Amino acid sequence: MKYQRSSALFNEANQYIPGGVNSPVRAFKSVRGVPVFMKSAKGAYLTDADENIYIDYINSWGPAILGHTHPEVLEELKIQAEKGFSFGAPTELETEIAKFITENVPNIDQIRMVSSGTEACMSAVRLARGFTGRDKIIKFEGCYHGHSDSFLIKAGSGAVTFGNPNSPGVTQGTAKDTLLARYNDIDQVEALFKENPEEIAAIIIEPVAGNMGCVLPENDFLQKLRKLCDENGALLIFDEVMTGFRLAFGGAQELFNVKADLVTYGKVIGGGLPVGAFAARNEIMDCLAPKGAVYQAGTLSGNPLAMRAGLKTLQIIKNDSEFFDRLAKTTEVLDTEIAKILNEKGIAHKINRKGSMMSVFFDTEGVSNFDDAQKANHAQFNRFFHHMLNNGVYLPPSGYETYFISDAIQDEEINKTLEAVRKFEN
Ligand code: PLP
Repeated sequence: MKYQRSSALFNEANQYIPGGVNSPVRAFKSVRGVPVFMKSAKGAYLTDADENIYIDYINSWGPAILGHTHPEVLEELKIQAEKGFSFGAPTELETEIAKFITENVPNIDQIRMVSSGTEACMSAVRLARGFTGRDKIIKFEGCYHGHSDSFLIKAGSGAVTFGNPNSPGVTQGTAKDTLLARYNDIDQVEALFKENPEEIAAIIIEPVAGNMGCVLPENDFLQKLRKLCDENGALLIFDEVMTGFRLAFGGAQELFNVKADLVTYGKVIGGGLPVGAFAARNEIMDCLAPKGAVYQAGTLSGNPLAMRAGLKTLQIIKNDSEFFDRLAKTTEVLDTEIAKILNEKGIAHKINRKGSMMSVFFDTEGVSNFDDAQKANHAQFNRFFHHMLNNGVYLPPSGYETYFISDAIQDEEINKTLEAVRKFEN
């Protein structure tokens, strides 16, 4: 493949945009080489500025669960665009999507729309602090909850990809209120509660982590967190920005049968437009402005174009009783067939998978936490990434990310993907 136009565009972008990108992981810094500049996307495929075509396993980092530019979502957007892009005033549409979500997701009564997953998580933590009157939170190493200050402490995703999980600019004062524990290590969480009695407002967790690669909760970890929160008067926040409407319509709450107190959303909920949301039972959401004292606001919150795209996406998913099984099946086939090929080649690896999220880790016995993820062979991942890219398969450009499988991936795409894996030389 040739990347001449992408290369020229990246050089130019570097003059005007820091690092040439508007979100760090897009820069291919960890895998090296020139980031591919995209031009258009349809279904399972992306077309870049050099007219190269790729099967997409990033899907805009999760939102494009139906595949790109789904015709029904596009139609909704056209209709809404004719009516107006943004009003800065309430619309019937916002109630329609709020009603649809709260009626179809367990354990939430009210939902507030924002414009990104970062805002959703930041606001959920503020609300948890306001509700409990406590300051500290527990987060897990390798989990990413957006780029708000409290979370940039041993964060995953782009933060760790660039070797800087603790960002300069986060004050000591902020950092001291974020307590860290190892993912899947319940003893550490228990110890933190003992060391900080009646000080911890909430635990925030990716119930299936996607930002240190895909890492699953083990040994009833989520259930045990629920119990510890109950015993200690803390709230449990499920960051379902990735998992919400992806692993099940009711997300990880439904999948693992664990009730969270606060849930955050993003990605799928906006159907490809910039949206986030946070939700909880009435008792908690009533603390939020304008009803309560915990402040939160947004010029473009509940934007009608985003609400239309989100609602239509969620309706399509909800009306298809086989949707999640189909996605999980596609992902299972990819997992087992890729594993078979790599085993035949004698390439040591481990694939983690849940629903339509999966990651291939090289040279490891297994990955259950951030330390394990760091020990995997990232140089080999980088070679795998470039091999796949050159063979028309667009994987996340870092070994600390999950693949997002879309409903547009069919047998043909799976076969092409496996064909590319078969050509991989260790
Ligand atoms: N939470 C999780 C689990 C995420 O994966 C992300 C982004 O990838 C965020 C929060 C932040 O969302 P956004 O990038 O929309 O701000």
